[in-house]
Amino acid sequence: MPIDPNYRTNRKVVSEQNGIKIYEPYNPPKQLGIWGTIVGVDFDLCIADGSCINACPVNVFQWLDTPGHPASEKKAFPINEQACIFCMACVNVCPVAAIDVKPP
Ligand code: SF4
Repeated sequence: MPIDPNYRTNRKVVSEQNGIKIYEPYNPPKQLGIWGTIVGVDFDLCIADGSCINACPVNVFQWLDTPGHPASEKKAFPINEQACIFCMACVNVCPVAAIDVKPP
């Protein structure tokens, strides 16, 4: 199942890290929800493939350690989502369709 494209309106913001919003469900370490608003990554789907990190021309992502998460123990954190140029490379390469990008 891919990331919910309507999460920005369907889900509550429950936390924030480095200015990046975290959308429910958030029960760490096993449930981490969706991180980011311009560039959203469903951390519960992310398997730490890393293709998005390699594909992004403007370095939106950086690895974040998430020990104890069942899908992977690190995630592609969209810490620089403000830099996104909407090329959609990350969306297209993600093997588990964990990323949704929407201009503000
Ligand atoms: S859409 Fe392009 S610029 Fe934006 S985060 Fe994805 S790869 Fe980076």
